This record gives sequence, C-alpha cells and structure tokens, in this order.
Amino acid sequence: MKELLKKWDKEFVWHPFTQMAEYVKSEPIVIERGEGCWLFDIDGKKYLDAVSSIWCNVHGHNVKELNEAIVSQLEKIAHSTLLGLANEPSILLAKKVVEIAPKGLKHVFYTDDGSTAMEAALKMAYQYWQLKGKGKKTKFVKLEEAYHGDTIGSVSIGGIELFHSMFRELMFETFKIPSPHPYRFPGSKEECKEFSLSKLRELLERHADEIAAVVMEPLVQAAAGMITHPEGFLKGVRELCSEYGVLLILDEVATGFGKTGRMFACEHEGVVPDIMAISKGLTAGYMPLAITLATDEVYGAFWGGDYGSGKTFFHGHTFTGNQLGCAVALKNIELFEKKGWPESLEPKIDYLWKTLKEELSDLNHVGDIRGKGFMVGVELVKDKRSKEGFSWKDDVGRRVSRRIIEKGVFTRPLGPVLVIMPPLAISEKEIDFMVKAYKEAIVEELGA
Ligand SMILES: *Cc1c(COP(=O)(O)O)cnc(C)c1O
Repeated sequence: MKELLKKWDKEFVWHPFTQMAEYVKSEPIVIERGEGCWLFDIDGKKYLDAVSSIWCNVHGHNVKELNEAIVSQLEKIAHSTLLGLANEPSILLAKKVVEIAPKGLKHVFYTDDGSTAMEAALKMAYQYWQLKGKGKKTKFVKLEEAYHGDTIGSVSIGGIELFHSMFRELMFETFKIPSPHPYRFPGSKEECKEFSLSKLRELLERHADEIAAVVMEPLVQAAAGMITHPEGFLKGVRELCSEYGVLLILDEVATGFGKTGRMFACEHEGVVPDIMAISKGLTAGYMPLAITLATDEVYGAFWGGDYGSGKTFFHGHTFTGNQLGCAVALKNIELFEKKGWPESLEPKIDYLWKTLKEELSDLNHVGDIRGKGFMVGVELVKDKRSKEGFSWKDDVGRRVSRRIIEKGVFTRPLGPVLVIMPPLAISEKEIDFMVKAYKEAIVEELGA
C-alpha cells in the first residue's frame, strides 16, 4: 500500500506551488500522523514541523483538547448554514474573537481561508465608500512584494513577481508603495521607514479621493521572505490613513495568534485597523476557517434600509461559520488563556533568537536573520561581507531545505530565504535540534 500511495500521489495529486515534473523525480513524503511538533510519515520517519504546516499550527498536532472539541461538536452537527440560520459555536467564537481583538473591531464576518477573508475585506471597503456617497474611492494601495492569497482579488493586491505577474491581465489596478525592507535599504532603519512613509504620503496627497484603503501585512511580510518592517512603520501608515480619510485593512492571516509574540502583530504598535483578516492560527491550524473583522464605523455603513436598498453586504460562502471550525477555534483561544499565551512565550522567543544568533549568524552564507517572535527568515547570501544575494533562480533555498528535511526537520523556503516558523508549542530541546539541522545543512550545501 505504501508504494501505491506514493505512485498515486504522483499520478493524481496536483500539488500547490509545485513544479510537478520536478516533484515526481523524488520520493514523496506521505504523512500519516502527527504528535506534538512532529510529523510521522508512512515509512515511520519523523520530521520536526519547523514551518508549523505552512504557518498555521499553534499547539502542535494531535492535541487531546482540540481533538475532543471537534469530536464533541461532530456528535451534535458538522455543518449548517449561516444564511438565515445561526449556530452556537459561531456565536460564541464571534464574541470571543471580539474580546481578544484590538479594541474597536466589533463585528465578525466569517469566511473559509485567508484569501477569502481578504476578498471580503476588499469588497467591504469598496462598498463602504459607495454607501458613504464617495463612489470615486475604488482603488487600493498595496506594498511591494505583498502577499494576501491566491484568488484574483487577493492576487491583485499582491506584489510577488514570481507568483503574480502571470495573471497581470486579470487583475484590477492598484497603487503601490515600496515595502520598508531595512536589509536592502542603503540607509538606516529610520530612513528606510521614512522613505516608504513619504511615498505613501505623496500618493495620498494626490489620490486620496480615489483610494478606498491601504492594505498591508503588519510588521512581517511573510511570503515575501519574512521582510520585517522598521519599528513605527505601521503606526505611521495608520496615522496617514486617518489623516487622508482612507481605510486601513490589515492582513493578520500569518501574523495573528501569537506568531509575533503578541496575539495580533498590530498590538506591538497600538494600532487598530478598520478591517482585519485572520485565519491560519485561528483554528490552531486544525480546520479551514477565517474571519474578517470590522469596526462599528464600517459595519454601520451597511446598516438600515430594506433588502433592496443595496446596503446589504452581498458576499458569503457555503461553509461560512462552520461549526467544527468554530468549535476548535474556541478551544484554541481557551488554550491560549490556560497557558498564559502569548505573554508566557517570551522566554522561549528569547531562547529561539539567542540560539539562532549563536549558531547561524557567523556563517559566511547567512546574511540577514530577520523576523519577529516565532516568524523567522534566514537569508542565504553568496558572501556575508558584500551582502551579494542569491536570486530565486539559484534554487539555493530549496537545495538547503532538502538537506534540512533529510535531517528530520520539515521546512519550505521562500526563494533564497530559509523559513523558521514553528508551532508556538515547540520546546527548547526541539529548538536546539531544529537550529542544528539548519546550520549543518547550510554548511554542507554551501560551505562554512
Ligand atoms: C497564507 C496567507 C494568506 C492566504 O491564506 P490562504 O488560507 O492560503 O488562502 C493571506 N495572507 C497572508 C499574509 C498569508 O500568509
């Protein structure tokens, strides 16, 4: 059966973001089960899940309390619609999420995944201005190298050349400002921040009457290679949005649920967006579920009139508010409270960064080690002193990652950037094991 599974995987499964001609050349790793921060394949090999199953797992795999939350909900009902009906888990979760969200975000719109949460956010912002009688405010401002998902709307507000340029003809027009990327910027962090903010100010000065919202990932642009913004950038963007009367949409899909050391990344700068999307960690990485949160001001614009008045938000998905997803998300938040997370995670975050600095920062092929909390990018460079980088085409991230996987640590790079984004539940011993595998793989593949 094992050999058949591998054969059928190659024959029938089209993997995401994967060149299948390349993929079929090697032996697939077929996962059978998980335990804590470890994944076990059908051959009995185990892998430390260093990317938390692409940034979503929180408490580890196969966690008793989370499993039980799903099973006990399943024994009542798996799914009924939110179109015309309500259900207990979606009500309790909405109340809970409003309690833990930045103050002012009071209304919960359910979607299925990060991309659809962002689609809903865009349509919400667009319709908001239509309803406010400012019908010319239809455009969005994005950051270079932004990533907000893979549906057409979220691709339109994305800026990663390799993923997005193919679909240019299908996208709607947007305005773009440079991401503040201190590692690439010739000046200081402060100058880097001021440069991006001045570009945003220029843009808003000229075009605010056409702009519905600024859209961004707060603090860390994960898919772009863990680009980490200088302190104060988010706050600066918030101030400009308020000054020029445009909405701020924050995509906390990757950064939410403790990944940066706070429940939500925007808390680091005391910023409250007008609209906020959450997903990946929402269900502790157990089920596809997402939420688009809105303020009273945004929600209020949709209030009133009859059904035909055009004030209704005409958007929704079949599995909106799914009971199994909501039940496990509720239990996830309960576990955060029980463990005193994210506050009690601080020593572990310090340990992770100390270990990374000690083990990796002296290597000649390691450039920037950047990120926040449990979100880390290790940039591979040709030479540390000249900072000369590898390009996506050198395939260096994948070559090194393949070796890391051979050493029993599952990872997936972003171009020349190695990713470390483990479940928050990772232990110090597992951090040691993980970082050692990265170090050995870099040295073996690229030299010391
Ligand atoms: C993963 C991600 C998305 C897309 O979420 P999906 O669930 O894959 O659709 C959107 N925004 C950010 C910041 C992400 O990291």
